[in-house]
Amino acid sequence: MKFPKISPSVLPFVNKPYILFFAITERCNLRCEYCFGKYYSETGELSFKQIKKIFTEFYGLGVRRIAISGGEPLLHKDIDRVIKMAVELGFEVGINSNGILVPFHIKALRLVSNLSISLDGASEKIHDKYRGKGAFKKVLVGIEAAHKAGIPLHFCCTLTDSNLKEWPNILKLAKKYNALVLISPLYPRIRGEGGLMVAKAWENKMKKTLKDISKAKEKGANIFYSKETYELMADWPDYTNDISVSKIPGHAKCFAGKKYISMDSKGEILPCLRLDGTFKGASCVKLGVKDALKNMPSPPCKSCRWACFIEYNLLFNFRAQSVLNFLSNRIKDGKA
Ligand code: SF4
Ligand code: SF4
Repeated sequence: MKFPKISPSVLPFVNKPYILFFAITERCNLRCEYCFGKYYSETGELSFKQIKKIFTEFYGLGVRRIAISGGEPLLHKDIDRVIKMAVELGFEVGINSNGILVPFHIKALRLVSNLSISLDGASEKIHDKYRGKGAFKKVLVGIEAAHKAGIPLHFCCTLTDSNLKEWPNILKLAKKYNALVLISPLYPRIRGEGGLMVAKAWENKMKKTLKDISKAKEKGANIFYSKETYELMADWPDYTNDISVSKIPGHAKCFAGKKYISMDSKGEILPCLRLDGTFKGASCVKLGVKDALKNMPSPPCKSCRWACFIEYNLLFNFRAQSVLNFLSNRIKDGKA
């Protein structure tokens, strides 16, 4: 087994970050129906030099994994250099992409530990409904190119009321490419107050689907998140909200802002992506990483129903099921 890049900051009692989520650009070449991105923001991206300085400071504090997303990260003019530089500094790098530009970045993408590609459906009809005409054909070209280059693939499937039955088809397609699938519900904040009502209207259907996914995971399906994460999402007590100011029974202690940090395209950090738009981040460019961490706002919440955060919190609390799932995912990703 090839173990993850490790540092003491992975330990819960060491007060240093271990993972950086970095939205390198807000620009995107798609206009997905449900996206909360600020697609047209053409300004405010960090230069290569600024990114290198910030990454170096985070590495010095113990961060060993960087997940680069966007917008569409492959649109950043220096993305290939950024990937290479981060790997050379000693990070494990993951990329989240809509897949369309993948064929143009294969050399750099060969260096990443995983490439996550968004798939809302396993057919043109469903994927293009959200992502626009022609998106499915293009994403398949990207997936084929990455697979041919031996890049470990993940597929990210966002569940809405229109594709609730599609996840088994995405699992089938993923098998062909030896990919793990991250299945997550669409989060209410994405549509503001209206979104909360939409989430409430979907509650019963969504809960049943999450239970079905949990059963499929138990039977060994190629699903990324642990069974516990799906059960916690399905049992979330209040579908008119996605966060809770008190800790919900069963959920693990939240390590946002401690073990994982979210940074936007301008170098401003917040404890987690969910707080973006609610709080002003602390600037790593103006303050340097150490002082930005000290000036970052504290989260108002103790639990949430966001799949990735539930899973990371389980993992950083060393919950057995989540740790075993993490190790098994690494084997499936070919890191063995
Ligand atoms: S690909 Fe991602 S960032 Fe771009 S519009 Fe779609 S959901 Fe938003
Ligand atoms: S509970 Fe969830 S939304 Fe709130 S800070 Fe923690 S990870 Fe973020």
